[in-house]
Amino acid sequence: MKIAVLKEQEAGERRVAATPDTVRKFVGLGASVAVEAGAGAGASVSDADFEAAGASVGARQDVLADADAVLCVQGPDLGSLEGMKKGALLIGALNPFGRRERIDVYAAAGMQAMAMEFMPRITRAQTMDILSSQANLSGYKAVLDAAAEYGRAFPMMMTAAGTISAAKVFVMGVGVAGLQAIATARRLGGQVSATDVRSATKEQIMSLGAKPIFVEAVAGIEGEGAGGYATEMSDDYKAAQAELVSAHIAKQDIVITTALIPGRPAPRLISDAQIATMKPGSVIVDLAVEQGGNVEGAQAGEVVERHGVRIVGHKNVPSRLAADTSALYARNILNFLTAFWDAEAKAPVFPDDDEIVLGVRLTRDGKVVHERLLG
Ligand code: NAD
Repeated sequence: MKIAVLKEQEAGERRVAATPDTVRKFVGLGASVAVEAGAGAGASVSDADFEAAGASVGARQDVLADADAVLCVQGPDLGSLEGMKKGALLIGALNPFGRRERIDVYAAAGMQAMAMEFMPRITRAQTMDILSSQANLSGYKAVLDAAAEYGRAFPMMMTAAGTISAAKVFVMGVGVAGLQAIATARRLGGQVSATDVRSATKEQIMSLGAKPIFVEAVAGIEGEGAGGYATEMSDDYKAAQAELVSAHIAKQDIVITTALIPGRPAPRLISDAQIATMKPGSVIVDLAVEQGGNVEGAQAGEVVERHGVRIVGHKNVPSRLAADTSALYARNILNFLTAFWDAEAKAPVFPDDDEIVLGVRLTRDGKVVHERLLG
């Protein structure tokens, strides 16, 4: 089995789909690994590090020639995959809904494309879950990005010259990213509150030492909901939530929004009128900006100012911590392939009826086969 690791071509993408650590493991399993020159540069991994781990390093066409599996972060354009073997695996964060047209092209080219972000949220697949590993670090970085834009300190400080009060931080959406944002803001000394539509998060918020702010008048989602995800809320709920946010947000210094609904645009949680009630110098970080945004006026890839409030909309936040996010992402892929590794064949063998395989496999034998893509 030859595994190819590509250098990412998307602008601003610094991550890489393998590390020397995972290369060593693949080589130990009997695979050969070829890494495109410069693939690790954005994540502080040199070609020499990959070579020392047992990989060969070369130009894209040499790396792709005869490869049985191609590992990537973002889905590559077909044109850049020239020379790739029919039937080869293409494994990465292929963005099946956002880049649907590419999936058709992968199918037509005879590839077996597997989308890691479709990994089912089941216990057996936790170590392969790229959404969790990347969101975790995004939640952390969102707080640091807010701190960097904020012209004040986070912790309360008592100095000889006077007292500085603690920053009030409000986290909206308490999934993986939100939980890490709460923990990070607490570590920095912020006074943290948080909200979600899923009632199960209330206890999690309190266990991190933050204050839950919840809509009480209209029922939210009891328990964990389908697969632990939120759904679109009723108009009554949205109205009650808007009222609650209006009352709370004017007193906040920092707001971090992370709310997502799978397969839908991100819910709008903060309006321009609500931003206008915040103190000048406050900061909002919208982690959902690339999915349509939780915050009115947020711009993907920009920091904009509205009513004296800075709205941070960085694109691809995981890439801003590329060394760590790459290490976790590469581990997720390693864990996925080793879970199906056949020691004799020295290659993964994917049973057709396995929940994980059914979850991630998009294309096969020239066709798109995933039910979520076939509608
Ligand atoms: P996500 O990224 O889809 O959404 C982020 C958060 O936004 C969620 O908590 C969601 O409830 C919230 N949200 C959506 N609409 C909202 C609104 N209108 N107002 C406020 N909040 C809103 O979520 P995620 O981080 O992927 O996590 C989703 C769930 O999956 C969690 O329950 C998590 O614990 C669970 N999970 C399970 C596993 C596993 O078992 N393998 C792994 C990871 C996550």
